[in-house]
Amino acid sequence: MLDLEKSVQYVKNVGPTRVKLLNKLNIHTLQDLISYFPRNYEDRGVAKKLVNCQDGEEVLIKATAITKVSEIFARRLKIYRLVVRDGETPCTITWYNQSYLKNIFKIGHTYNFYGKVEIKLGRYEMKSPIFDESGENKNTGKIIPIYPLTYGITQNTIRKIIENGVNEAYGNLEETLPNYIIEKHKLMGINDAIKKIHFPESKSDFIRARYRLVFEELLGFQLALLHIKENYKTQEKGIIFDKNVKMSDVINTLPFHLTKAQLRVLQEIDDDMENIRPMNRLLQGDVGSGKTIVSIIASYKAVKSGYQVAMLAPTAILASQHLENFKKTLDQFGIKSELLISSITKKNKQNIKERLANGEIDILIGTHAMLEEDVIFKNLGLVITDEQHRFGVKQRAKIASKGKNPDVIVMSATPIPRTLALILYGDLDISIIDELPPNRKKIDTFAVTKQLEDRLNGFIAKQINEGRQCYIVCPLVEENEEMDLKSVVELSEKLQKETFPQYRVEYLHGKMKAKEKDDIMLRFKNGEIDILISTTVIEVGVDVPNANIMVIENAERFGLAQLHQLRGRVGRGEYKSYCILKYEGRGKVVQERMKIMCQTNDGFVISEKDLELRGSGDFFGTAQHGIPEMKIANLFEDIKVVKEVQDISCKILADDPNLEQEKNMKLKKLTASKFTKRIEI
Ligand code: ADP
Ligand code: MG
Repeated sequence: MLDLEKSVQYVKNVGPTRVKLLNKLNIHTLQDLISYFPRNYEDRGVAKKLVNCQDGEEVLIKATAITKVSEIFARRLKIYRLVVRDGETPCTITWYNQSYLKNIFKIGHTYNFYGKVEIKLGRYEMKSPIFDESGENKNTGKIIPIYPLTYGITQNTIRKIIENGVNEAYGNLEETLPNYIIEKHKLMGINDAIKKIHFPESKSDFIRARYRLVFEELLGFQLALLHIKENYKTQEKGIIFDKNVKMSDVINTLPFHLTKAQLRVLQEIDDDMENIRPMNRLLQGDVGSGKTIVSIIASYKAVKSGYQVAMLAPTAILASQHLENFKKTLDQFGIKSELLISSITKKNKQNIKERLANGEIDILIGTHAMLEEDVIFKNLGLVITDEQHRFGVKQRAKIASKGKNPDVIVMSATPIPRTLALILYGDLDISIIDELPPNRKKIDTFAVTKQLEDRLNGFIAKQINEGRQCYIVCPLVEENEEMDLKSVVELSEKLQKETFPQYRVEYLHGKMKAKEKDDIMLRFKNGEIDILISTTVIEVGVDVPNANIMVIENAERFGLAQLHQLRGRVGRGEYKSYCILKYEGRGKVVQERMKIMCQTNDGFVISEKDLELRGSGDFFGTAQHGIPEMKIANLFEDIKVVKEVQDISCKILADDPNLEQEKNMKLKKLTASKFTKRIEI
């Protein structure tokens, strides 16, 4: 029997060195290997006539050798040249330092060459093309998969290894979808799908193979999510909060009018709270759309119905900021709010825990410290987590388990179009605040290149002289925290010594201890720092109303959604605010992205554009969003399949809610694997 879990080490052509390289690509087992899908394909199947080629085009040509390979020594280089002819058209082919080529080609024989055609003054050339010796179809003559790689492994090597793995598996893979689904939706079987996603013989092969695999991935994902959601709905009995507690009693004390969107969302929450089934609601809204006040009003309802509230924030400073806001609105109603973060004294903690357990504290706001075993609520009724992507499902479940099926609100500031939100958060109901409070000033955004640096620095200095503060954000250098740190430290030294010696410059980065970070953030908030340089750790919503400039270094390296999040750190006070995107590169996509940022402040528009320009792979790729990575589906391009699969999933579950019927056994297995993955996030 085929063992898909066996180590990739036992696949042909894989030795101890290659195992390590494969592991770097997250390929550990045979299963991983055959599910390591190509990122692209090159069609080296159909030859093109040289005369029809454009300069710079990558093509396959079929041409006959008309000379022997000549060898030329040029300093340290050895150049090998061959002249071939395609019909009447001659072409010079050049390789470097590959002496074995000397004796391969024979005059009068025809070969396949795949590479970039260069046309100089009417002469055709090709440099270092891929070729096959006559008669063979190893590297050309077919569609070739291109894999994402790591240093030290070549396309040829990985292709060979995957080919070996696929050959071993082919014919022995157990079907993962039930027959009735395969037939109904005319899907390719798993064996063919795996073979053809790697080595398609035609474009339509590829399309059918990919469709089958995307379908399967999305189906497993959807079923798992819907299943969780259904469980919440049907099985658990939650709390019915008091109908006589009116949210309007708090709303009437606010110094501003709630937006229509806030009111609508509150209505949804109110209905849920009065319903017996536990609420599990995602509250989504752009930065500054006023999610916090919504959670405060919901908390009022919970407390006045006789329950306690827990609010989980990702950082201590955010928790403190929330506490301030809660107290400002709710103290007047005799509601007691407290803060629990790891930095408070032991004695204080003990005191808080005691008062929490006997019900003297109504609302507890805090960080991970709240998750500890000995934090016991007397009567927890509502759980709110802020900035959803920082917490895993596990942590959410943990805090919720401190009550008896409490209602849960998850707040997220990543605006995602509703269609996508429905898919990604299938386990939650969704409320969206799609409107900003009135009189929000637009944050003026400018995209600049290095040439304008001096003017920019002058502008920053002018603003600081008027009493304002400035953020400067550096991008994460991929997978290299040491370098991130270095770039932040170096930049801050340079700015402090050379550019802004008269101002107080500090820096923050992800490797600092939480306490250090909070400390610096607090000093910035208190106006003791003029310029704060950081990696993206400041992304989370800390309010510093006096900071009005956000400079983003290498803005081209950020996704639009992230740029938008960062920009949302300014424009929180009464001052005119600015976002300056410093970028490099002239690429069309870069220009396009900078333009969008300068044109609009609407997070939903931006996230849709982001998806369009980058594809969902990148957008959702980071575990940051708490979304499992898709192996093959692209939520943007495959939105049609997503919807199709959504319908199918609903029908399957309506008929067989726990996937217990014999015909659905395979689906149960499929969802089980998705489910564990999600829980681990
Ligand atoms: P976010 O959705 O990013 O968490 P906040 O809840 O922090 O946004 O709100 C940002 C600011 O806007 C807060 O100071 C809040 O008091 C204020 N605010 C919220 N709703 C309104 C409103 N309807 N009108 C005016 N200001 C509002
Ligand atoms: Mg917020």
